[in-house]
Amino acid sequence: MREDRNDRTMLAEAEAWRSRDLAVLWHPCTQMAEHPDTLPLLPIRRGRGVWLEGVDGKRYLDAVSSWWTNLFGHGEPRIAEAIAAQARELEHVIFAGFSHEPGLKLAEALLRIAPRQAGRAALARVFYADNGSAAVEIALKMSFHSFANRGQSRRTRFVALGNGYHGETLGALSMGDLPLYRRVYAPLLLEPLFAPSPDAYECEPGESAEAVALRRADELEAIFAEHGESICALILEPLVQCAGAMRMHHPAYLRRAREICDWHGAHLIADEIAVGFGRTGTMFACEQAGIAPDFLCLSKGLTGGFLPMSAVLTTNDVYEAFLSESRDRGFLHSHSYTGNPLGCAAALASLAIFDSEPVLERNRITSTRMAELAAPLREHPHIADVRQTGMILAMEMAADGRSRTAFPASERRGLRAYRAGLERGAVLRPLGDVLYWMPPYCIDEPALQHLADATFHALNEATR
Ligand code: PMP
Repeated sequence: MREDRNDRTMLAEAEAWRSRDLAVLWHPCTQMAEHPDTLPLLPIRRGRGVWLEGVDGKRYLDAVSSWWTNLFGHGEPRIAEAIAAQARELEHVIFAGFSHEPGLKLAEALLRIAPRQAGRAALARVFYADNGSAAVEIALKMSFHSFANRGQSRRTRFVALGNGYHGETLGALSMGDLPLYRRVYAPLLLEPLFAPSPDAYECEPGESAEAVALRRADELEAIFAEHGESICALILEPLVQCAGAMRMHHPAYLRRAREICDWHGAHLIADEIAVGFGRTGTMFACEQAGIAPDFLCLSKGLTGGFLPMSAVLTTNDVYEAFLSESRDRGFLHSHSYTGNPLGCAAALASLAIFDSEPVLERNRITSTRMAELAAPLREHPHIADVRQTGMILAMEMAADGRSRTAFPASERRGLRAYRAGLERGAVLRPLGDVLYWMPPYCIDEPALQHLADATFHALNEATR
């Protein structure tokens, strides 16, 4: 009886919160007219491990690591404590002309773990910003500007991949190919040369993932053969195009892409904002292809999911192109919160966990369990594909799984799955009709079982 009253109180509190929220807030990536009837709005009180605790008294498993940011669970005490301790010392200081210990230590730590390639100069410089889109803008501007400073002013174009995504600011959005985000702003955007995605799902019958990748690399090469002298850089998301519905490709593409860029004297920008820090099974996705990029963009998991921060790593070769007597040959880009000490402290605490615990080995066991739990879905009549790269597992819902016939987009099956997932206490938040698991690394067996149950329920509800 008392519990009932508590439940009722919490539900009422959540409801009151919702109306206050919808009176003043504008949420990201949301058609606000869909709140609250089509789309639920969930006020969250606290987060612990893989769980989010709603004001309504219910628990929700965060299967999407809060937009792919969280690595070691919500409320991870070591990261929380590092931020608190740093806040007591130095919360922020202008980073132009000033330096601080967490900023310096983090740069050294990132350069130590950055992907390497035999015979290639290592990434040697770190430039900080405060979100992923800003990191992409920086890499694009640095690439172009370094060529301009070296007298190669004809290099003004970028190559990006079909189905790619790099963020929402105008430069980053320009490099993306997802119509949902890009189409309306197209008149404002840069126009990269789009090369077809190496996506393994797009294979011809009987074609292997590697064969598609190599076929697509030939098409990339043809673009460079025609436009090579005007290209600054190729930008791509190594191994998994996350916002592009978790489409995955074979590392052979990355090796060829690296060679093609080198041959044509262009840069390779690896956007590891979503896939970095262990998501794909290795610390960075580029490692699986044995390549190092000229620019490595990092964000999201950089701070373990605690604070907004990003970093662009580049080579001394790029850096040296900016050294000059003349001020405007320098990289005069800045963000007020560049190098924020709290973000740096969180990132150092997160990297310390990688140092002190066998994170990647443990993830291998977890990702095997994810594969086992998802295996029965391969037989589901409405699943066209189950694919996995490390700690990212995606399930493609379809009207007919066998023939890979998609549901009409207007049916919004993904949204149905999302709502059904929430009913069962899991945040699935599909990308279109693609359900996926990208949980915090601390997910344990009972939570994995809970996730699998909620997913089967969501799939059945969405495809009925
Ligand atoms: N690049 C990739 C690959 C991403 O997945 C994202 C975010 N989803 C971004 C860039 C943009 O990052 P942010 O949202 O922090 O601007």
